[in-house]
Amino acid sequence: MDIEYDVVVVGAGPGGSVAAKYAAKSGCSTLLVEKRQEIGTPVRCGEGIAKRWLDDVGIEPSSRWIANEVDGARIISPNGTVLTVDESMAGNECGYVIHRDVFDLSLAQQAAAAGAEVMVKTSATGILREDGRISGIRAKSMGREFTIRSKVVIGCDGFESQIGRWAGLNTNLKPKDVDSCYEYTLVGVDIDRRYTDFFIGNIAPGGYIWMFPKGEDTANVGIGVQTSKIKGPGEAKMYLDRFIEKHPEFSKGKPIMEIAGGVSISAPLEKTALPGFMLVGDAARMIDPVTGGGIYNACVAGRIAGEVAGRAVELGDYSQQMMDAYEKGWREKMEDHLYRNYLMKEKISKLDDQTFDRLVEAMTKVDMKRMTTLDILRAIRQKYPDLVKEFEEFM
Ligand SMILES: Cc1cc2nc3c(=O)[nH]c(=O)nc-3n(C[C@H](O)[C@H](O)[C@H](O)COP(=O)(O)OP(=O)(O)OC[C@H]3O[C@@H](n4cnc5c(N)ncnc54)[C@H](O)[C@@H]3O)c2cc1C
Repeated sequence: MDIEYDVVVVGAGPGGSVAAKYAAKSGCSTLLVEKRQEIGTPVRCGEGIAKRWLDDVGIEPSSRWIANEVDGARIISPNGTVLTVDESMAGNECGYVIHRDVFDLSLAQQAAAAGAEVMVKTSATGILREDGRISGIRAKSMGREFTIRSKVVIGCDGFESQIGRWAGLNTNLKPKDVDSCYEYTLVGVDIDRRYTDFFIGNIAPGGYIWMFPKGEDTANVGIGVQTSKIKGPGEAKMYLDRFIEKHPEFSKGKPIMEIAGGVSISAPLEKTALPGFMLVGDAARMIDPVTGGGIYNACVAGRIAGEVAGRAVELGDYSQQMMDAYEKGWREKMEDHLYRNYLMKEKISKLDDQTFDRLVEAMTKVDMKRMTTLDILRAIRQKYPDLVKEFEEFM
């Protein structure tokens, strides 16, 4: 069986579903292929998102996937100093704690409602080329191999992406640019569901521990640690277990889910588009290197890719120049922020606990308009220039 569409999107995570929705909305015949049999499961996520960006990608908040709405975030330094930040000032992972499986499924439903076809249990296994451009994929479903020809391919196959490499893009990551994550969903914990908590310091080398409250007594408690700072993936769990043991409010809880996964904490890729091809979300290393969050970035890039695909099909132009509109679009929205946070991550990962304590203490004493890393540094500089001397170049 060989089939043909204007646009084929590989991977039905948030990036892929949003890309497929906007490609279909632009009038393209669109196919979204997903290797798993059920979109959204198994979940590998802390499940924290902000409220403010949902409108940008046409997502309406829904009680179907909102597990808990939070008022803000608390950053807790090694000596227990707490900085509380309002939700509107916090990063892209604070606002709602969601049921990620239902969220992903509802985005795929939106893509289908916009006209995209969805094919689950279907893996992309290779890429087709014709006349110097990418012209579709090879796919496998239930033992059958076939080709899907298309005018544009959008690769949204996540952190373990292969499609970018198949297309010829360099997506390699160094161990220092990868976080190993481990997370429990705990029930019976003693938490304040109004806040997401971030525990920083060398309890999580090169990363942090999070508590995202899913309900009255249920929370996702997880850790990300820089892979270059540990001997094996099992060590992330060890750091998390050690932390939980020391916190009775968490250790009284019972795990009902355990997940492990990786996130890139690298600088953005140099190239994410080729003739007839665009790479989106985790596959394109768009995760925020400081927070490890990537749902927002995947959705925003997905929208731009879907719209560029629509324009390309309308004009019959699949050239590098056309696809560069995607490159330009996502970079304008987020490259500066990602690059700055990458450099920041490089510095932060070398700080000792005392410096973390002093930084958080300083942050509790200065007036901040927002909670981006740049705003934090600028605010601290006003009162404590000494403390942020090392970060001067970012300001
Ligand atoms: C432990 C952990 C906690 C996290 N917590 C948060 C958080 O709280 N907030 C946040 O914003 N981000 C978080 N993230 C990151 C977030 O999950 C990702 O940034 C987000 O899922 C990126 O979306 P995506 O669409 O690019 O990729 P994905 O969601 O990974 O989707 C990729 C899809 O492609 C499919 N696929 C892969 N290969 C193929 C193939 N060959 N053929 C067909 N389909 C394929 C996969 O099955 C998958 O469905 C976390 C990540 C981890 C690991």
